[in-house]
Amino acid sequence: MTLPAVTAMTGLVPLIATTGIVLTVSERMLQQKAAKGQTVRKVSKRRAGYVERSRKRQKCSTCEFYSDGQCELVRGTVNSGGWCKLWARGT
Ligand code: SF4
Repeated sequence: MTLPAVTAMTGLVPLIATTGIVLTVSERMLQQKAAKGQTVRKVSKRRAGYVERSRKRQKCSTCEFYSDGQCELVRGTVNSGGWCKLWARGT
């Protein structure tokens, strides 16, 4: 499906995150709020597309939002070797 088609169907303009994955505006806003240190309402693992074992070089342990088994964006405990589509490079 093309991006214009997605926009027409949802009314949202998808944004491309650093992962190369298309994120919705609300997902991008979630990342931006957390990056600014603002309190966010976490999403479920399912909604984030979380997997326990990353098949990519991107992993929770290298994500901006990871800290000691917890994620600022995703509910519950996350694995340092896991991954989700909200991944963003940590500093
Ligand atoms: S990749 Fe980042 S945002 Fe996704 S679950 Fe892991 S720590 Fe959270």
